[in-house]
Amino acid sequence: MTIFKKIIDKEIPARIVHEDSLCLAFHDIQGQAPTHILLIPKKEIRSMAEVTKSDEALLGHMMVVASKIANDQGLARDGYRLVVNTNDQGGQSVFHLHIHILGGRQMTWPPG
Ligand code: AMP
Repeated sequence: MTIFKKIIDKEIPARIVHEDSLCLAFHDIQGQAPTHILLIPKKEIRSMAEVTKSDEALLGHMMVVASKIANDQGLARDGYRLVVNTNDQGGQSVFHLHIHILGGRQMTWPPG
């Protein structure tokens, strides 16, 4: 079981900004930007590498929720970044799929 599953089950605290039947969003504990939110599915999917066709509606829903969260957090006008680190070389450290929503500062390219 990952730490994110414990957050879904409310076994450990998190600063939740959105919750519905399919997903949950909360502030990252180690923010890498003035606003840094993690959006996760309640379904336990290890990474993007495990996504299947049956997850299509869930992932579509999450992208709509990510847009709404960014709007609600006031990030849309200046811009923001969505990131999904995947497996080792992608820099993933928690193996429960999550979308990083980062904003409030200038992002650079390429990412590190
Ligand atoms: P990744 O490296 O893409 O797997 O991202 C995992 C993220 O989870 C990191 O940005 C961590 O700071 C964050 N994180 C780990 N534990 C917690 C926690 N208990 N609450 C909130 N964010 C967490």
